[in-house]
Amino acid sequence: MLAIHAVPAFKDNYIWMLVDGREAVAVDPGDDAPVEDFLAARGLNLASVLATHHHADHVGGLPALARRWKCPTFGPAREVAAALDRRLTEGERFTVPGVGIELATIDIPGHTAGHIALTGAGLLFCGDTLFACGCGRLFEGTPAQMVDSLGKLARLPAETRVYCGHEYTMANIRFAEAVEPGNAELASRKVRDEAKRARGEPTLPSTIGEELVTNPFLRCGEPEVAAAAARHAGRALSGTVEVFAEIRAWKNAF
Ligand SMILES: [Zn+2]
Repeated sequence: MLAIHAVPAFKDNYIWMLVDGREAVAVDPGDDAPVEDFLAARGLNLASVLATHHHADHVGGLPALARRWKCPTFGPAREVAAALDRRLTEGERFTVPGVGIELATIDIPGHTAGHIALTGAGLLFCGDTLFACGCGRLFEGTPAQMVDSLGKLARLPAETRVYCGHEYTMANIRFAEAVEPGNAELASRKVRDEAKRARGEPTLPSTIGEELVTNPFLRCGEPEVAAAAARHAGRALSGTVEVFAEIRAWKNAF
C-alpha cells in the first residue's frame, strides 16, 4: 500500500516521500539531510530518486542520496543535474523502483526550459510549474510555453492529486482573490486550506479538479479572469496567452 509523506525542507519546500513497505522513493530532494532523517526514523531503504527540474532546491540532495543508497535516479532529459542516470523524455513511461507504480513523463517547459512532470496512479508530481492555486515563475520560458504546459496538466483526470514543490498556497489564494473576488469555490478553498495550516498540516496535495475552479493561472480563458487582467493592464488583451502574461506579471508584483 503506497503512502505519500511531505518532508519539509528549507523555508517552504516539500520533498515528497513515496513509501511502500520498507521501500521509499524521494521526489525533488533539495537537501539529503531531511530525507536521511525520515528514512532512519522509519527504518526504510531508499530505492530511487525522482527529479522534476534542475533547481538546487529540488536536486541539491540528489548526488549524496545516490552515492549513499546506490539507487537509480530519474530526471529531465533536457536539463543538466549531477548524478541523474535515467534521463526522461516526453511520453516516456517507467516503473518506479521500490514502489512499483508506473509513471509517465510530460514536458512542461516554462519555469525552467526542460522541466518535466511525472504522472500515473492518480498522482502528479509537477515541481514548480503548477502550484496549489498558483504557478511557477517564468525563469527560462515564455508565457506561451507556460500556458501550453499548464494546459497539459489541466487535461489530466480531475481527481488527479497534485504534489507540487512548495507550500505557497495561502499567498496564492490571497492573489487569486484579487483576481476573482466573486469566486465561491475559491472562498471555500481558503477556509479549508486555512484550517489545514492552523493544524500545522500541508495544504497539499490538491486535485486538478480543485485547481480548475480556483487557480487563476488555469482560468485565463474565463471571462472574469480576462476582465480582471485587462483592468489591471489598463488595456484590452487578446487571447489566453496575453491574459496569462498579465496575471503572471501582476502576481510577481503582488
Ligand atoms: Zn524551481
